[in-house]
Amino acid sequence: MTHRIVIVGGGAGGLELATRLGKTLGKKGTASVTLVDANLTHIWKPLLHEVAAGSLNSYEDELNYVAQAKWNHFQFQLGRMQGLDRENKQIHLAATLDENGNELVPARSLGYDSLVISVGSTTNDFGTKGAAEHCLFLDTRKQAERFHQQLLNRYLRAHATELAATEEINVAIVGAGATGVELAAELHNAAHELAAYGLGQIKPENLRITVIEAGPRVLPALPERIGGPVHKTLEKLGVTVLTNSAVSEVTAEGLVTATGQVIPATLKVWAAGIRAPAFLEGIAGLETNRINQLQVRPTLQTTRDDNIFAFGDCAACPQKGSDRNVPPRAQAAHQQASLLVKSLRLRIEGGELPEYRYKDYGSLISLSKFSAVGNLMGNLTGSVMLEGWLARMFYVSLYRMHQMALYGMFRTAMLMLGSRIGRGTEPRMKLH
Ligand SMILES: Cc1cc2nc3c(=O)[nH]c(=O)nc-3n(C[C@H](O)[C@H](O)[C@H](O)COP(=O)(O)OP(=O)(O)OC[C@H]3O[C@@H](n4cnc5c(N)ncnc54)[C@H](O)[C@@H]3O)c2cc1C
Repeated sequence: MTHRIVIVGGGAGGLELATRLGKTLGKKGTASVTLVDANLTHIWKPLLHEVAAGSLNSYEDELNYVAQAKWNHFQFQLGRMQGLDRENKQIHLAATLDENGNELVPARSLGYDSLVISVGSTTNDFGTKGAAEHCLFLDTRKQAERFHQQLLNRYLRAHATELAATEEINVAIVGAGATGVELAAELHNAAHELAAYGLGQIKPENLRITVIEAGPRVLPALPERIGGPVHKTLEKLGVTVLTNSAVSEVTAEGLVTATGQVIPATLKVWAAGIRAPAFLEGIAGLETNRINQLQVRPTLQTTRDDNIFAFGDCAACPQKGSDRNVPPRAQAAHQQASLLVKSLRLRIEGGELPEYRYKDYGSLISLSKFSAVGNLMGNLTGSVMLEGWLARMFYVSLYRMHQMALYGMFRTAMLMLGSRIGRGTEPRMKLH
């Protein structure tokens, strides 16, 4: 029987893996490759802060799984994984409902010989009182669009009344990691764009943005020489940055810190910390950690089952020579997908599986069109600091690499051309 590879989660890592396995093993008929995702379309997650600010129309950058499967010799199944039967090698998918709650696709089970789990992560509000109720999150396109709509609604309301000149909109972002600081800069840009379109005449400085960080500095996971310039740029843009300020409660009116400081906010975004989806916790006896990540070995096989692999944000993968796990980043998911293309072929051929080693090629932080800051790491050059236009170019190239893995060089070039032409004919902001 043909070897059945089932990949659950078509995100930054899973979709690249399905595409590349489809083009190789699937096309030759060596294996049947099936991708399962809870949604019908894919958007690269690092773009979500741009969707939230309205600087990116997500419909232009989305990819349809059904079409991608047809073009790349794999099958697509719509469904949300909710269970696993390791004995019978089956995953269980929940029924998919339409917007009215009617069943669209029934609950069902799928058999596998090799299972790859790449279901990503969601934001971790650490159980903070009121956070789930009052904060917006940026885990999915829907959530990012909801934030954008709420921001736009404030402008539209002010536009229709006499309030415009005095209306203030306070946005509080919890977490000064990459997502938080990039969103802050993108919102500052949005305020200027919306003013330029004459919407509501709310002055750009009346969109007040505050970033609140529990740690002593912005970008705590990155080297200080990146955090320093980013902090300065944010302050230059008029963003208030509060460090050493842990949020202990979120209310309808704003945020309350552990020291009792109250930060008034109309819109509140929680962008601090991650955890893997709850359904993974101890699933079918597999080893998981306190944030529900599946524990894997350097081969990316789960510690208790050789037939099950996990990678990307939902996997806890040890780094050789360090007590830290591989960080939850798109570049790690991309590298691990490349390794698994080889591993799954070798598994079918009976070869020894290679081990994954995380290569940090550096970190780039985009501050909208104002700047980008980061470092690039190379074997020969060591760490090189980049800032401004050049850093922005490298930042954009990360997304181009993802597109190349999905579409190949020619179609990526056509997409780039299309978006350049579109820039001249469409508003620079999504205004609906
Ligand atoms: C706003 C933002 C900005 C970011 N910026 C950067 C950046 O600049 N650089 C960087 O390296 N990283 C960045 N990241 C992190 C990066 O997006 C993630 O590390 C990366 O997307 C992880 O890839 P993944 O394949 O593990 O998961 P994802 O890309 O999250 O994909 C998970 C997929 O699984 C599907 N899924 C989830 N649950 C189920 C289920 N039960 N059944 C079926 N399907 C399911 C989802 O629909 C999704 O398609 C950013 C993240 C955010 C939120």
